[in-house]
Formats: sequence, C-alpha cells, structure tokens
Amino acid sequence: MTEAAAKPVVIRMYAAREEIYPREAKGRYASLRWACVWITQLVFYGLPWLNWNGRQAVLFDLGARKFYIFGMVLWPQDFIYLAALLIIAAYLLFLVTAIAGRVWCGFACPQTVYTEIFMWIERKIEGARSARIRLDRQPWTADKLARKTAKHLAWGVVALFTGFSFVAYFAPVRSLLSNIGAFALGPWEWFWIGFYAFATYGNAGWLREQVCKYMCPYARFQSAMFDKDTLIVTYDQERGEPRGALNPKATPQDAKKKGDCIDCNMCVQVCPTGIDIRKGLQYECIGCAACVDACNGVMDKIDLSRGLIRYSTDNAMDNKWSARRIGQRILRTRVLIYTALLVLIVAGFGTALALRTPLKLDVIRDRGSMGREVGDGMIENVYRLQIMNTAETGHTFRIKVSGIDSVRLATTDQAVLDGASTRAVPVRVQVERSAAARGAAAPGSNHIEFELTAVDDPSLSVREKAVFIVPK
Ligand code: SF4
Ligand code: SF4
Repeated sequence: MTEAAAKPVVIRMYAAREEIYPREAKGRYASLRWACVWITQLVFYGLPWLNWNGRQAVLFDLGARKFYIFGMVLWPQDFIYLAALLIIAAYLLFLVTAIAGRVWCGFACPQTVYTEIFMWIERKIEGARSARIRLDRQPWTADKLARKTAKHLAWGVVALFTGFSFVAYFAPVRSLLSNIGAFALGPWEWFWIGFYAFATYGNAGWLREQVCKYMCPYARFQSAMFDKDTLIVTYDQERGEPRGALNPKATPQDAKKKGDCIDCNMCVQVCPTGIDIRKGLQYECIGCAACVDACNGVMDKIDLSRGLIRYSTDNAMDNKWSARRIGQRILRTRVLIYTALLVLIVAGFGTALALRTPLKLDVIRDRGSMGREVGDGMIENVYRLQIMNTAETGHTFRIKVSGIDSVRLATTDQAVLDGASTRAVPVRVQVERSAAARGAAAPGSNHIEFELTAVDDPSLSVREKAVFIVPK
C-alpha cells in the first residue's frame, strides 16, 4: 500500500461561512421586490395602529382568550377558523410554488424582506460592494468603528421596532407604547420584544442566506412541488456559451464563434446566496431574479437582447418554447386540480364563516344535586347556562326551555350580556310531579332543550340539549 493510499480521508461536516457582499441589483425584479417590501411592511407595522369599532382592528388577546380580526371576534372554540386560514395560506403557497417556483422566497418571505432592508442600511452606511469589501479588509480605524457602530445601531432600531410591532398584535399597541415609555412593561412583553428583535437582527443582519440554505424547512421540501413546467431562474447555456470577455478587436467570424456571456460575473456579484446560476439550478437559489436584472443590464450595455438569464421552465429550455407556450402550460392538470381544491376550501371556509352564529350556549347540569322534589308538587333540576356572546354588540337574551309537558323555568328567563363577553347564568327547571305521573316524563333521564334568543334580533338564536332527571 502506498503512503498516499494509507492517508485517512477527512470529510468535513461543517464548512465555515464565506462572507457574501451582494452588489445592489437594479431592474424590473429589484423594483418588484421593493414593492413587496413596502406592501408587507406597511401592513405588518401599520395594522396594529388601525382601529375598528373603537378598538384595535387586529388583536390576539391571549389573556382574555379573544381574537379580534376587524368585525370578527374569535374565541378558543373558533380555533378551527384560524386553523382553516393557515391551511388556506399553506395551500396557496403550494399552488404558487407549483406555478412559479420560489417566488415567495425571492420576493415576499420575511427573511428576504428584512435582509433587503438591512442590506439597504448597510449600503447607505458602509457604501457599495467594493467599499464594503475594502472596509472589512482594512484594520480597525476610527472611521471603520464609527461606520460599523452606526450600522449595528440602525439594525438594532429596525429590529426593536419589528419586535415591538410583533408584540402589538398580542397587547394593545397604544398602551404597549406608553408602558414602554414608563418602563412598565411586564416580563413577557419585554421577553417577546427582545426575542423577536434578536431574531430579526440575527437572521437579517448576520445569518442571511444561511437561514434559507440550512434552517428553512420550506426550502427543503418545496422541490417536491416542482415539475418541468415550473418557472425557475435559468441561464441559457446554448446562447451564452462559449463565454468569454468582450474583445473589441475580434473579427465578426470570431464574434460568431463566441456565446453572448461576456463572463463579467455581475450575475454572481448580485446573488444574495453567492452562487453562479450559469452552473445550473442549485438548491441555494431563492429565485430572487437579481441575476436576471444584472444580466439584462449588461446585455443592454453591449447591445444584445435581454434574457440570457431569465425566468423559464425545464420544458421550455429543452424544447425552445415561446413565452406564450410557457404561459399556456401554467394551466396544466396538476395546477388545475390544486386550484379547484383551493377554491373548494376557500368557499367552504367563507360559507362556514358567513353562517357562523355569534352566540354560543353550553348547558352544564349541577351534578351535585340530582332531580329533587320541591314544594307545590314540582320536580326540580339545577343547571348552569354558559352563554357566550361573540358579537361586538351587547344583547338581552330570552331563555326558554321545552321538551317535557309542563316544563318551565323557575328562575329568570332573561340574561343581559355585553358585546364579546361570557356569562354563567344559574337556572332552575321544574316539571309538575303530576305530569311525570301521567307519563310525560319517565323516571330517570328525559331530554329537554334550552333556547336562547336575542330580544332585539330573533334571528340570533341557539338551542342546546340537556337532560332532566326525574327521581324514581
Ligand atoms: S451577467 Fe450575464 S454576461 Fe455577465 S457573467 Fe452573468 S450571464 Fe454572463
Ligand atoms: S442565482 Fe439568481 S435568482 Fe438565484 S438566488 Fe442568486 S441572484 Fe437570486
């Protein structure tokens, strides 16, 4: 055995991160990404400040266990609606991925959006790509220290505001703000503001592409939703190769032998994950199309047609399909099935929401006292009515009981509830002993029914079954 063959082979499970200095991309897709940044952040930062019916429009009040979403008040019992919303969002994401690949990752994912904001701050303070590389390589000076400090402070401010806005979905934003000013926040509020701010600062400032490469679960399984008609960012090998630098002295014959790629590396320099799309589709590619913008800019400058790097599909590249043919393949069987299922789920969700009665009634029998005989020849059972008015407005409700001949309420038949409130109403229900003797109620369990109706709105009504015990 030779010495070389005997040498152990070392397989490294960890590769140290190489710093990426993305160049700023300018073009149609960069503008689209910034539009997504503005829209998502205006919604995220702005929504807690929006009022609706005199209260915060969107508030997940965990303490009171009520979720306010504009005109709707959801309770823990309505969790199914929130779960359905999440299922719809996930399903929509699957559908979009099947059609257009990783557009969510490249344009609207919070990781992309905050990284874009943090990189913008970085460019403003440390300068363009080459200036940032120079700054990092030079020894520490007062200027470098000042720039680095300013950048991290600015990142910290954005991160803290993001953490504050996140917590404002769970605690009323105005009192949260005044409590911060008075240093009167509770420990959980401090914790979650700090935690969310730290996550934003760490993910968008330091980890960046590593979140997409190593931490995001969606990145792992979304390739299962791809097929040969899914849009991906692609380099046109046939047109671009053989690549080579522009040579002003080249003869027309030489120029004909060369591909359109001038090997300027712009597509690599703008890539936020630091890959070279000319090597083919790689799992690190988040579909941000920064390389498309960069290459289009280069093609414009050297007077060649755009689209050397472009959104296309495997089938389109293999068969040289036109944009129209690519568009026609969007409506393929798989996509139509996904869309039909999504429409069905959304329709079911919308119908369930529209038919939802904003009133709930639970009847709890007093297990401590079975049916008992009281004065005047009556048999009596005791219940607790747990009434939940999930509407925004208060109502007076009339309580009725039925199901056995002569059954009646021996207590109040009215309950007043404020909007979005619950109330436990103890009631006593009586049946005449003579009715039981006539056979209207058998000894043991008998079914009765409570009905609750709003006095000012008879359409607001619920019924709930219960058991009336007649002693043997
Ligand atoms: S930007 Fe375009 S021309 Fe420049 S290296 Fe990339 S593919 Fe080639
Ligand atoms: S290869 Fe292009 S589309 Fe993919 S991440 Fe890099 S810049 Fe974005």
